[in-house]
Amino acid sequence: MSQKNFEVLIVGAGISGVALAYELARYTDINSIGVIEKYGDIATLNSSGTSNSQTIHVGDIETNYTLEKAAITKRTAKMVEKYCLQYHYQDEIIFSHQKMALGVGNKEVEFLLHRFEEFSKLFPYLEVWDKEKLKEYEPRVVLDENGNERAENIVGVGARGEWTTVDFGKMAKSLIENAKEQEGKTVETFFNAQVKKIEKDENDKYHVYANGEEYTADFVVVNAGAHSLYIAHRMGYGLNLGCLPIAGSFYMTNEKMLNGKVYMIQNPKLPFAALHGDPDVLAQGNTRFGPTALMLPKLERYKSGTYMDFWKTLRFDKNIAIALWKLLKESDIRKYIFRNFLFEVPFLNKYLFLKDARKIVPSLQLDEFRYAEGFGGVRPQVLNKDEQKLMLGEASINPGTGILFNMTPSPGATSCLGNAERDLKIVVEYLGKNFNEELFKDELTEGEYCVLPEPLESQKARVNLIRAEIARTQEKFEEDYSQKQ
Ligand SMILES: Cc1cc2nc3c(=O)[nH]c(=O)nc-3n(C[C@H](O)[C@H](O)[C@H](O)COP(=O)(O)OP(=O)(O)OC[C@H]3O[C@@H](n4cnc5c(N)ncnc54)[C@H](O)[C@@H]3O)c2cc1C
Repeated sequence: MSQKNFEVLIVGAGISGVALAYELARYTDINSIGVIEKYGDIATLNSSGTSNSQTIHVGDIETNYTLEKAAITKRTAKMVEKYCLQYHYQDEIIFSHQKMALGVGNKEVEFLLHRFEEFSKLFPYLEVWDKEKLKEYEPRVVLDENGNERAENIVGVGARGEWTTVDFGKMAKSLIENAKEQEGKTVETFFNAQVKKIEKDENDKYHVYANGEEYTADFVVVNAGAHSLYIAHRMGYGLNLGCLPIAGSFYMTNEKMLNGKVYMIQNPKLPFAALHGDPDVLAQGNTRFGPTALMLPKLERYKSGTYMDFWKTLRFDKNIAIALWKLLKESDIRKYIFRNFLFEVPFLNKYLFLKDARKIVPSLQLDEFRYAEGFGGVRPQVLNKDEQKLMLGEASINPGTGILFNMTPSPGATSCLGNAERDLKIVVEYLGKNFNEELFKDELTEGEYCVLPEPLESQKARVNLIRAEIARTQEKFEEDYSQKQ
């Protein structure tokens, strides 16, 4: 058995693993980094361009983000943008589409207008689009199959000219290539190497075993998606956590239907993103609707096995049962889970999906889209046994012993460089190495929280104009209606 030694060893070559390899190679004085990957290439699971929605989640049109959360995601999302622009990946890895959150019906319209007032301070480029503007920018969200305007009030809060879309699979490949380019650094990748065991010896060295090979390292970061928790459990860490894999599927239109990203308003009771329509950069810009959310008893989509790994990683017990019960006793969540299960049932699925997708495109017809076979992935959502509840967002286990384990559900691809920054700081501190933070900030950030003192009053004035217009339309409708009676 040959032995390979590194200062830092990363398990998993999805976008989280390779983003860390890149940052360590470029911004620290760590000289040797190894990346061990179970499959034959970079980013074949959730980070592949076909597995996720390709969205840079900034927080501007994601209506489930609070202002505080959006301020943080804005910073990390900017890192993806700045990285891609630094290497001139425009229209190759990063793309610009218009984007919006769409409010349908008076309640959602008012919610969006209010959100606009609050969020445009952080995102001064946001605009409010009424029906007339929407007809121009995104006609299919306004017109029905007869070319008439849809009856409900609608409003879009969005932006044009921003970087919105990334082929995260390609970005992952570029990250490892650029890591390998750093002068004086050794960055090695090992494929078809499934890590089965990690041990620490009495000299604080980690021994990592994969497919008959032994690797040693001073620090190990496990970025293996849902399998991070599986490996952590085997080492006795994170035993208060369980993993609930939530698969996401998509539906693809036969041709380009939307000019940009259209997101729906999130039901705050539901832990997963609301349905959206996105131009797919890997499918000639055809619209991809989704993702759905289905609990699946396996850790990897479209790969054989991992059923047993699921049970081992769930660590089912009374606390997990209570956490699941708390989720299921909420009627909105119960209905949502059942409906999402039906979205996977052949034939029936398209009819049901049509109903939901028509909220975005009222004229959508059954023969205009299909179930996107082979698209989608699994979000490793984490259940906290101590709190008996589902944790939203990412989870990281840091026992403080020179090893980290990361689980990264959505929007983990957007936050890959931000998460890597967090881990980099832990690694350099533990190893007594140096971080060139100045270069990092200069290349990848635009300052801390980017809250800009945008004149709020002018936005309020615009919103109030739209409110007045809606009220006028409503009054006119009621007047006409009473005259007809
Ligand atoms: C349906 C869906 C839609 C999404 N949409 C978006 C979006 O629009 N925007 C966004 O930012 N995020 C999105 N996400 C989330 C995003 O795709 C993930 O957060 C991100 O890809 C996670 O990257 P990762 O590197 O942590 O994990 P992965 O990409 O899953 O990579 C983990 C790697 O570890 C390897 N591995 C596992 N076990 C071992 C082992 N024992 N030994 C060696 N290697 C191992 C795997 O083979 C894999 O290559 C979406 C996810 C899904 C499922």
